[in-house]
Amino acid sequence: MPEERGADETYGGTGSYLSHVECSLCGRRLEADRLQNLCPDCSRPLLARYDLERASRELRRETITARGPNLWRYRELLPVRSAENELCLGEGFTPLIRAARLGETLRFDTLFIKEEGLNPTGSFKARGLAVAVSRALELGARSVSIPSAGNAAGAMSAYAAMAGMEAHVFMPRDVPLPFVAECRVLGAEVNLVEGVITDCGKAAAEGVREFGRFDMSTLKEPYRLEGKKTMGYELAEAFNWTLPDVIVYPTGGGTGLIGMWKAFDEMQMLGWIDDHRPRMVSVQSEGCAPIVRAFHDGLEFAEPWPAPSTIADGLRVPSAVGDFLMLRVLRESRGTAVAVSDQQMLEAAELIGRTEGIFACPEGAATLVAFRRLREQGWISSGESVILFNTGSGLKYAHLWSCSDGPGTLTGA
Ligand SMILES: *Cc1c(COP(=O)(O)O)cnc(C)c1O
Repeated sequence: MPEERGADETYGGTGSYLSHVECSLCGRRLEADRLQNLCPDCSRPLLARYDLERASRELRRETITARGPNLWRYRELLPVRSAENELCLGEGFTPLIRAARLGETLRFDTLFIKEEGLNPTGSFKARGLAVAVSRALELGARSVSIPSAGNAAGAMSAYAAMAGMEAHVFMPRDVPLPFVAECRVLGAEVNLVEGVITDCGKAAAEGVREFGRFDMSTLKEPYRLEGKKTMGYELAEAFNWTLPDVIVYPTGGGTGLIGMWKAFDEMQMLGWIDDHRPRMVSVQSEGCAPIVRAFHDGLEFAEPWPAPSTIADGLRVPSAVGDFLMLRVLRESRGTAVAVSDQQMLEAAELIGRTEGIFACPEGAATLVAFRRLREQGWISSGESVILFNTGSGLKYAHLWSCSDGPGTLTGA
């Protein structure tokens, strides 16, 4: 186990305050200590709930900040109960980079990049799957299954390997090679499916029914969200227990957006932050923007997007089980939603690359395009602190830059 842990914490309990799980739509309460997926009544996501009242009396921020640099520093507010089940490859606690040269170029000096590309397996999916696989291990799962556009599959494969679990991944047939290679090397069984992530979901469901594999789909079990929420805790910690003014986040299934907002709620109940909240901005691709459309149409649920197409694999999610939760967060935070083109993402990645030294994934680059648009429209004012999330490394998307006549021709735009 990581040596930075205190000896008293290395074995035994984590001190988790997890109390129960609760349906996000109908509010039904369920016992937390068993493997389960969606609400048995309304088939919507279950959320982990903690005894925050007791935690607010007992848990000190200083206890958290004295710990090692990974997401398990928030262990009391995560669902894993036994320390020996915490699977750790160094996920989380990523750098928050003051984007000085990029900010100078854009005449905006309070711009930050949360650099999630440094996570194990090269994306922030490691956060959600570290926690979800750890908890599944704790609750007795032996075999796990996931439909994925690419990054989630790699992350699940890594933690399943560490846990000694069987991993079955389902990705679109046209997923870039690095995602497939990664899963295979990490010991997963790889299934390539005709279509997009929703078709992968259908294919994966068969194995879940027939072989009793545990389903790790986004928001179809309660604990990936718990891993993702740590991004919210980290932002508060980095800003000395205050929150920035605007968070710009590339949205697919929505766990990051929903998870951070949950973290803010929890921290406020713990008395760790006041009631100043960021405006949350969801960014999607023009080729697949169900949340952007639903937000601007004033809908509570999103219509599935027909024939989704984008180079940003993580954003190719035509319909999401947590759609209403994302829309709630955008509205509650007085945020907004923006669709950007693939070509703009590639150009933005090049601008981030040459000014900040970060090879961003197209999803991460999309946040820069959205920021510039919102700044031009006056929706973001000067002096406001703005976080762009680079959700993954650009390395797995290198094919987008590999041919001289392809979309990313290094135009220097
Ligand atoms: C999955 C993914 C997203 C979308 O994340 P959600 O939290 O599911 O909305 C964004 N960027 C990358 C690189 C991804 O892999």
